[in-house]
Amino acid sequence: MTSLQPVRGTRDLIGDDMRRHRHVVDAARRVAELYGYEEWSTPIFEETGVFSRTLGETSDVVTKEMYTFADRGGDSITLRPEATASVCRALVTNGLTQSLPQKVFYAGPMFRYERPQKGRYRQFHQIGLELIGPAEPLADAEVIACGWQILRELGLAADVMLEINTLGDAESRAAYRAALVGYFTAHETALSEDSRARLTRNPMRILDSKDEGDKRIVADAPTIAAHLTVEAARFYDTVRGHLARLAIPFAENPRIVRGLDYYNHTAFEFVTTSLGAQGTVMGGGRYDGLVAEMGGPQTPAVGWAAGIERMAMLIAQPKTVNGLVAVIPAGDDAEAEAFALVQTLRGAGIRSEIGYRGNLRRRMERANRNGARAAVILGAEEAARGVAQLKDLVSGEQREVSLADLPMALHALPTEPVA
Ligand code: ATP
Ligand code: MG
Repeated sequence: MTSLQPVRGTRDLIGDDMRRHRHVVDAARRVAELYGYEEWSTPIFEETGVFSRTLGETSDVVTKEMYTFADRGGDSITLRPEATASVCRALVTNGLTQSLPQKVFYAGPMFRYERPQKGRYRQFHQIGLELIGPAEPLADAEVIACGWQILRELGLAADVMLEINTLGDAESRAAYRAALVGYFTAHETALSEDSRARLTRNPMRILDSKDEGDKRIVADAPTIAAHLTVEAARFYDTVRGHLARLAIPFAENPRIVRGLDYYNHTAFEFVTTSLGAQGTVMGGGRYDGLVAEMGGPQTPAVGWAAGIERMAMLIAQPKTVNGLVAVIPAGDDAEAEAFALVQTLRGAGIRSEIGYRGNLRRRMERANRNGARAAVILGAEEAARGVAQLKDLVSGEQREVSLADLPMALHALPTEPVA
């Protein structure tokens, strides 16, 4: 019988992979909290309409990447390809559209049927922020600032670059759309089949094409700058002013349109050159129309999502877990006493382990190999006297400590990292 394999594009998070993943999520959660965000968790599957109606019928995600299936009741279900639509659905169905602003942080798995490669998977994970309610450019700058702080705390400040653009308001976009249709129609025969289809349905999407031939044509396409209304231009100016004031470095990139249809005004990406074609680490922007499309009232919002796998690949090795206390029985007759002691230590908040087998020497070797901070050695005679040997595995010092004082003595050990 052939052995069972993980599904293509999925991976197990074990050991260093899981430590990196957790490190990213922990840092993001901590920073998001500093900015006043609260964590939401929405289901990993939704009615298909939550995504197909809102992400844009010509977006890559909707046309090619969704995991959509009929469940046993015959309903069309989709594994979430992203969470912004889910959060807006949740805002509406939980009756929160009158309790604004809502500041939402999330972390979890997303699903897209893509060609798997380094940094691109079919089940991947994102962290994200949604700031729902404020229409002010200050909000755009604040979500970017929070993203930047997360990347900085992960040690990625030198690895990523912020690129921003504006997609304008409805009037700017209508004018820009006409200019793009004019330009791309003149190059229609050279466009990829996908992009020819986008020409009438959503020409801005062509700017986001990954096709090499399309990219050459896109390089000379008109930019939105000349088509911005006075208000849209002022909005963009204000966002850039705030970023400059906060000393967040950025470059303008008029080609950023983002893959999904619901964006307006600010669009931005934190990009890196270290991950080949998978260069976008974090992407987001303003999406003032999405909540209304979900059936709620007109509600401005801005946010971003970031790929955990891509950040996890960029971060330096997270500190290995150490600081463990190894409880070691000296002789078989102390085994039960040692087991009871390790339980007491855990109850006192001390991370501790008892080796399952082996003599004193073997267990001591294992404690050292595992980077334990200290060893507590307990013999039957010592247990009877209510004492144990405490060995500091960093300094090598050993001394007798009463069992009553042991938790305090262990907490008091200096927490220098173990080599
Ligand atoms: P790309 O251009 O790389 O396909 P995207 O525009 O489809 O990205 P978004 O929908 O904006 O990506 O998702 C935000 C972030 O989620 C991306 O910047 C990336 O870090 C991550 N991401 C998206 N798709 C995948 C995937 N298939 N595997 C791993 N990470 C992904
Ligand atoms: Mg994509």
